[in-house]
Parts: sequence; structure tokens; C-alpha cells
Amino acid sequence: MEIGVGCSQSFVRMLEKMEEFDPEKVIEEFEAITQDAGKVQRETLKKILEENGSAEYLQSLGLNGRTDPESFKTCVPLVTHKELEPYIHRIADGDHSPILTGKPITTISLSSGTTQGKPKFVPFNDELMESTMQIYWTSFAFRNREFPIGNGKALQFIYSSKQFQTKGGLAAGTATTNVYRNSQFKETMKAIQSQSCCPDEVIFGPDFHQSLYCHLLCGLIFRDEVQFVFSTFAHSIIHAFRTFEQVWEELCTDIREGILSSRVSAPSIRTAMSKLLKPNPELADLVYKKVTGLSNWYRLIPELFPNAKYIYGIMTGSMEPYLRKLRHYAGELPLLSADYGASEGWIGANVNPKLPPELTTFAVLPNIGFFEFIPMKHNIEDQDHNQMDPSFFHIEPEPVDLTEVKIGEEYEIIVTNFAGLYRYRLGDVVKVMGFHNTTPELKFVCRRNLLLTINIDKNTEKDLQLAVEEASKLLGEEKLEVVDYSSHVDSSTDPGHYVIFWEISGEAGEEILKECCNCLDRSFVDAGYVSSRKVNAIGALELRVVRGGTFQKILDHYLGLGSAVSQFKTPRCVGPTNNLVLQILCDNVVESYFSTAF
Ligand code: AMP
Repeated sequence: MEIGVGCSQSFVRMLEKMEEFDPEKVIEEFEAITQDAGKVQRETLKKILEENGSAEYLQSLGLNGRTDPESFKTCVPLVTHKELEPYIHRIADGDHSPILTGKPITTISLSSGTTQGKPKFVPFNDELMESTMQIYWTSFAFRNREFPIGNGKALQFIYSSKQFQTKGGLAAGTATTNVYRNSQFKETMKAIQSQSCCPDEVIFGPDFHQSLYCHLLCGLIFRDEVQFVFSTFAHSIIHAFRTFEQVWEELCTDIREGILSSRVSAPSIRTAMSKLLKPNPELADLVYKKVTGLSNWYRLIPELFPNAKYIYGIMTGSMEPYLRKLRHYAGELPLLSADYGASEGWIGANVNPKLPPELTTFAVLPNIGFFEFIPMKHNIEDQDHNQMDPSFFHIEPEPVDLTEVKIGEEYEIIVTNFAGLYRYRLGDVVKVMGFHNTTPELKFVCRRNLLLTINIDKNTEKDLQLAVEEASKLLGEEKLEVVDYSSHVDSSTDPGHYVIFWEISGEAGEEILKECCNCLDRSFVDAGYVSSRKVNAIGALELRVVRGGTFQKILDHYLGLGSAVSQFKTPRCVGPTNNLVLQILCDNVVESYFSTAF
């Protein structure tokens, strides 16, 4: 079989000729490209460099037409977004010369910008679109083998961001918006039986709250046809059903009378919805009966959508804290975690859909980019025991290739793709859990730079998540839960201390919250933290409880910056560059507690 580089061969054929989608063929192709992932990686790099060798960026680095990995690594430096920003801004400002890619970039994606507090511009092109579809098809093929869906519809909580033109006239929007607006998206959704039950006007509506209301309404109208419930990130699913808890009676009234609530004011959405909404008292009664029969909203989703086979979306990483709530809404319905990628490009597909979200891995597609991995810890077994660990001197280990990674090790991932990013530090840490043929299966660990650190302590997003999980168990005794959380290092005190912000689903007693605060402090088990706390080199941890709706305000803040709900991730650690979000959190604090654990 001929191995496709950049995009699988059968995939290209299917796209070009609109051939019938054949999941078994897609799986066969995936098996083929992962047989010798090292070879496919070299071919992919060669293709990327051949197609883009004329770009100013690569020209300036002296590759002189060489396309082998060794020359590439010698000539091309590791970069972050900051180093590429001037090039990307020239593109956005309308410079059509080949700057980062051979073919000019005509579209810009906005990444969610959770970390920096403002969206970043990244190039988007046809190749990125194709690899997105390849990922969708691949994971669908594996998913459908285990969890076949019938011909029906999908309740997809997807939203477009506002699209705008850059100074140079390029279309700009979030990566998901660029994907949803592309004609290939609809074709692919049709092929993989995942058509949304909502009209486009809802997805592309001007106001997210109105779109969400209509997503829910369409879901109910097509309740028997809904085969699965989806959103890009699990946060949007939770957000949608929390909203349902508030608006369900209004939805029933709309269905009963066949008249759309006045809360939906956008004319485009009203016109589109009027074609679907007809008076249906039987359905309204049924929904009413289903909802009033529930206990604390448990099994809400299967009750509303009796033919749904699963819930699908990214549930790993910063989405894990929502799993408990999602399982509550889902009852026995399986939760299937979606693939791994970023606005900058895709990395891997979930080809083991039966694994629960906590164990989900992503098999890297070796033909969509060239991937390198910086070891997070020096592999002690491999080195002479007399040598010092290089990380002691802050020397970063050399990146290794895709097929050189080791099971059980953690790495920072470096991406080179077909859209003008070369040796780009995505900022994510992944762990190698195994191999699918010769390509690694990665588990997402955390963002590399999301660290709570004051002196010698180092706590990642994952450490924070574990601490919050532990402490929030205490709230469970009062039937309360942490709706969402974030953190901050407060260095205005001497010594500095960690601040954890919690939004809680109701009123918790003072004693419980004091216990939660102590438990949070004790749950950061990093040796640097514990020893610093013992000698008071780090001050007592502070738990600040914020008003209900605070995290909604944060979401609204990001939407105002041009982000889309589809890509929203709550910032788990708010640094000094993100002072507007910090302000929102601080302005909404209703009570605060200091730990007495040390
Ligand atoms: P964005 O900035 O909106 O493009 O989001 C990209 C980031 O989302 C990635 O760099 C990851 O940190 C995170 N992400 C994407 N996919 C996953 C996944 N499957 N599991 C965990 N985190 C993910």
C-alpha cells in the first residue's frame, strides 16, 4: 500500500471524489502509516520542507534545500509563539510574500489564549483543514467499530466565534470556527453520520447564549434522532446542561406553543428556528414528565435523548474536573474522550475509545506533522550514575524523535507542521503510555507553564487538580460541589502564598470550608512546597470562595476577546499577565480562609 504523507491516500481520494466513507479502509490506512512511523516522519518532514523551502523563515536559517531531520535540527531553532509572532503579524497585516509557508496563508486562527490571557494568532491553511478531517475520520472509524451509531443526528454544542478581518484583510476566527465554516466540515460530518440537529444559523449565531438555548431546543425537537451528544471540550456540555436546569420550563413552553422565547432576538436564528418549531404539546408533556421524574438531575442526558449511544468531547487534561458532573448527567451512557490537538495543528487520535477518559491516550498520526519530544526529566537509567542530572544546571535535554520516546516518560511536545510552524513548542506535557504499531500513544499531562511556584516549589495544573479533587470530597458530605476553580500566586504578601478560588454550587458552612482549605494545603505533596511551608518560606494557603456566576463572567470575558465557547478552557492558574481575569475573581470573593495545616 502506498503511504500517504500530509494526508492519507484514501482520505484524499474520498475528499476529491466524494467517495463513500469506508471506516475499515481508514483503519487499514492508519495501520499502514503507523507500521514504520519513523520512515513516515522523515517523508513528512521532507514534504513540509520541500513545499515551504522558499519561505523567508526557512531561507534565513541556511537549510539550502536539505530536508533530512539532522540538518533540520541543526539549522532550525526551537521556538515559542513569541519568536514567530513578528512573522505571523506581517502575514496578518497583508504581506503576501512567502514568509512562513511557500503558499501564502489566507486565514488566521485565534488560539483560546487561556494561558497568556489574550488570544494568539496562528496560521491556518488547507493542509491543516485536511489533517483535522483525517483525525476526525480516523477516530470515528475506531469509535464506530466499538459504539456504532445509526443514521440520525448529533446534538453538538458547537459555536462559532465572531469572524473578523485582520489589518491585511485575512479572515480570522478561532480554529474551530475556521473548521466549521469550511465546506469540507459539513461533508465530513455527513459522511461520519454526525450532522448537527441545529441549523447553521444557530451555530453561527451572533450571541452564544441564544445559540445555546436553541441547541437545547433543537435537541429536544429531534430527541428520538439524537445519536450522541458532543462538544469540542467537555466544559461546554456541562455548561449546556447546567443552563438546561435553569431554562427547561421555558423550553417546554416554546415546544408546547410552537413559539420561540423572546430571549432569542437574533433575526437569523428566529427565522431558522421558526421552520423547525411547531406546537407539540405531547413532546412538551413528555419532557416535563421526564425532568420532574429525575432525582437531582441524575441521568438527565439519557432521559432526554433515549437513543443516544454516548457522549463525546475532549474530557482529558483541564476537562477532567468536569467528569464527575458529566457522569452524573450521563448515568450509564459511555463517555468517549475526543482527540488531541491545538489551533496550531492536530497531534493524535483516540483509537482506543473504550478506555475511560482518565485513561485515554492519543496515537500520533505520523503523516500530519513532524514531532519531537523534550524529555521532562533526564532518564537516570540511561546515564552514567557519576554524572549530575543536567536539569540541575538548567540544561535542557535534547529533543528526541517520535519513535525514540520511552514508555512511562514525560515529554514536552514540539511540532513542525504544514502551516508554517517549525520546531514550535506547543507548551504541553505528554506521557508515553504505549505504542500503536510504532507510533506512540500519548496521555495528556498538563500545560508546561501552568505552574504554581514561589521558590523551590513546583506544582502543575495536574497537582492543583488532584488537590482540588481531594478537598472537594469534603463538600460532598454537604451535597455541594465545586462548580469551577482557579488559582494564583500572591506575592504581595511576605512570604508569598497560594490562593485557590472556588465557586461552589451552594452555601457551605464555615467549618467545612476551613477543613477544605487545610486539605488543599496538605494535598500539594511536592517536596519543595511541603518543606517551604514547614519553615514558612511559603505562607498559609488561602481559599477564596467566589460568588455564583463568577466563572460565567470569566467565560464572557474571553468571548469578548474573540474566543469561542467551543474552545473555552477555564484558566487554572492566573498569572500577572492575565490581570483582567484576576480582577474578575478578586472582585467576586465572598469569603476567604487561611490554612492552619502547617
Ligand atoms: P487552543 O489554544 O484552543 O488551540 O487549545 C489547545 C490546547 O488545548 C492544547 O495545547 C492542550 O493544552 C489542550 N488540549 C487539546 N486537546 C486536548 C486533549 N485531548 N486533552 C487535553 N488537553 C487538550
